This record gives sequence, structure tokens and C-alpha cells, in this order.
Amino acid sequence: MFEEALSDEERLIRDTVRDFAERELAPGAADRDEAEHYDRSLFQGLAALGLTGAPFPESVGGGGLSYRAWTLVMEEIGAADMAVAVSLSVHVLSQSPVVRWGTPEQHERWLVPMLRGERMGAFALTEPGAGSDAAAIRLRATRIGPADAPAAYRLDGTKIWISNAPEAERYLVFATLDPEAGPSAIAAFLVEKGTPGFEFGRKERKLGIRANPASELVFRGAEVPVANRLGAEGEGYRIALSSLGEGRISIAAACTGIARAALEAAARYVSDRQAFGGPLTDQQGIRFMLAEMAQRVATARALTRAAAEAKDRGQPIAEASSLAKWTASDAAMSVASDAVQLFGAAGYSRENPVERYLRDAKGAQIYEGTNQVHRLIVAEQLLRGLGLPE
Ligand SMILES: Cc1cc2nc3c(=O)[nH]c(=O)nc-3n(C[C@H](O)[C@H](O)[C@H](O)COP(=O)(O)OP(=O)(O)OC[C@H]3O[C@@H](n4cnc5c(N)ncnc54)[C@H](O)[C@@H]3O)c2cc1C
Repeated sequence: MFEEALSDEERLIRDTVRDFAERELAPGAADRDEAEHYDRSLFQGLAALGLTGAPFPESVGGGGLSYRAWTLVMEEIGAADMAVAVSLSVHVLSQSPVVRWGTPEQHERWLVPMLRGERMGAFALTEPGAGSDAAAIRLRATRIGPADAPAAYRLDGTKIWISNAPEAERYLVFATLDPEAGPSAIAAFLVEKGTPGFEFGRKERKLGIRANPASELVFRGAEVPVANRLGAEGEGYRIALSSLGEGRISIAAACTGIARAALEAAARYVSDRQAFGGPLTDQQGIRFMLAEMAQRVATARALTRAAAEAKDRGQPIAEASSLAKWTASDAAMSVASDAVQLFGAAGYSRENPVERYLRDAKGAQIYEGTNQVHRLIVAEQLLRGLGLPE
């Protein structure tokens, strides 16, 4: 298959992660999915490889990996088991704002154990009444102590669909000081599992990535010290949005992995399957399907790398990361669907991996911003770039 040029270092990283993914992740992926079993030892394996803090600067204790190289990592993990890829991506997403907005004390106390993979993170934004319209969150933060110098905050409300919960120990939680005031009243809080008044509600019953848990978070008067507020009051919305571009690149890379795995499985199957006097690959119609699937994989990968390279150059990534995530998740979905088709009835069976790829891909069109929201972002950037009213 078409492969772009990689440096020796990038090739080494890619091959190391591919080896781990093929040995440790892929073999048990179907069983974990069937049992909805989250295997924490896999996260520890990722930590041992230095991946739980890889794309962060060495100055804060991260691995100093470029985003371009990070997309190689995520593609390999996504190809082996998307549930593990999402778990790692969310863990990284929950640290990004702390790297950027955290105080030196928060870096030391909160971030370092997460970078090392000793603690797992989750990113808690979505609520029953606030998904795409994230500024509409209602989870209430009430100051304890004087308004200008509170000692702590009390959190009350519910988050839903929080990936890695209840496994994760550390939650980046967005709350509002005034539900009527919109984005300007939102603040971000670092909340530890076990905080009195913070509990887990219903576990989400998912179509795909079933081996990655997601659950409700329920706050009933949970007290969070002021030292655990990330950034200032009112900066929470900017903090939430500030890392989503990186998260989208990460998911785009993992989706490229799903699409690649689905294509490879389908190509092997049709070259083996005999019909009409020879292998199915003798049929031009089948070859056209394979070629079009390969085109979608290559497009997803190219846009993902372009977004990662823009991030590495320090350029704005809103448009590039939206294009990458939207294109790659659509590619994963359509290539997986074609792979099921090429397997025939065998593709519809849970005995083969392609139906899992299809189920796993669907979610990626919804989380990290739905693909409709990405169209809105791309159109907004386009109009802005042309100096037209947004
Ligand atoms: C597997 C999975 C894992 C998740 N993990 C997390 C997590 O870890 N943390 C977290 O905070 N959230 C998480 N989420 C939630 C996710 O971020 C939201 O589901 C997503 O933002 C969409 O919100 P919603 O489900 O409320 O849909 P809605 O916002 O209600 O949208 C419903 C439909 O309307 C469309 N739509 C909405 N607004 C517009 C518009 N302006 N123009 C055109 N179409 C529009 C949407 O695209 C969608 O198709 C997860 C979701 C899933 C499925």
C-alpha cells in the first residue's frame, strides 16, 4: 500500500508501537469488546512504552514527541483496538489543558503522575442538555468563601458520556458559576476520584468501542479546593476548546488505523475467497472497491499528517484538525462498511473483525465534535479567511 516517507526515528516509533499493538492489543480485542471488559494492564503497557505522556514537552515531564509522530502511534493503536486508542486519546486530551494552563504546582501534583501513566484521566464536558452546544452546560460551581477569594467550590450536576469513567482517577470537569451567563461563566476544575459528593452514575451501553468504559458523573455538593481550579473563573470555555484540535488529530489518526485494518482484512479475504472459477480479486468490480477504499485511507492519512504538521509548526489548527477528523472518521466508517460487504455473510458475523471496525468507526463521527460541527468550523474558517461575514 502507498506509504509516505518517514524519518528513521519515525519508522522506529511506528514499528515499536506496531509490534506492541499486534502482540498485546489486537489478539484480545474481540473478546474484550464482547465482554465489555476494560483491561487496565494495557494502559500500563502503553505507559511502559512512554506513550501516556508522549506528545507533551519534556519541560513538563512529557516525551517531547512531535504531533506528526504521535499520529503514527495513534494509527497503529487504532488499527489494533479502537477502544484502547480512545482511552489513550482521552487520557492525553485531559492533560493537554493542564500543560497549557496549569500552575507549576498543578504540573507537579496533577500532571506528572498522569504523564507517567500512574493515574488515568478523563475529560468531562458533555451534559444531558449540552453536547454540540457546549456553552450551555449547567453543572453548577458555587463559591465557598468570599467571592473575590473563594477557598473552594461546590459542584452540583451531572455529566454524561464521559470516556474512561469510572476507571480514571483524574477528571477535568467544566462547570458554570452562572448557568444564565454563557461561556463567560465557565470554569475548569481538576477533580479526583473519591472526592466526597462525586460519584459515578449509569454506565453508557455503547454500539462500539465497548471495551472502553464511559459513564455518567454525578456531583452532589462535591467540594473542590481553589488550588484545583485550572485557569481563572470564566476561562473554562477557552480551556475546553483549546485542546480539542489536538484531540481531533489524535482521533483522526486512530480512524485512519481502523480504515487501514478494514482494508487489509478485506483485501486478504477477497484474494482468498473463490467464486466463478477463481479468487474474487479476479473481478474488476472487486478491485475497484479495493482501490476506492485505499484512496479513502490515503486521504485520511494525508489530511491527518497535514494537521499534525501544522500543529508542530505552531500554526492554528482549527480548520486542519476539523478536516482531518471529519474525513478520517467518515473514511473509517465507509471503508469498514465496504469491508463488511466484501466479506459477504462472513462480514456480518462477530467471528470476523470487520463488523467491530464498523461499530467502532461510527462513534468517531459523533465524539470530539460531530462531523456536522466540523463542517460548521471549516465553513467559518473559510469565510474568515476570505474576509466575509462568518
Ligand atoms: C463514544 C462516545 C464517547 C464520548 N466521550 C466523551 C467524553 O469523554 N467527554 C465528553 O465530554 N463527551 C463525550 N462524548 C459526548 C460527545 O462529545 C457528544 O455526544 C457530542 O458532542 C454531540 O453531542 P450530543 O450527543 O448531545 O448531540 P447533539 O449536540 O444533541 O446533536 C444531535 C445531532 O444534531 C447535530 N447538530 C447539533 N448542532 C448542530 C448544528 N448547529 N448544525 C448542524 N447539526 C447540528 C449533531 O451533529 C448531531 O447529529 C462522547 C460521545 C460518544 C458517542
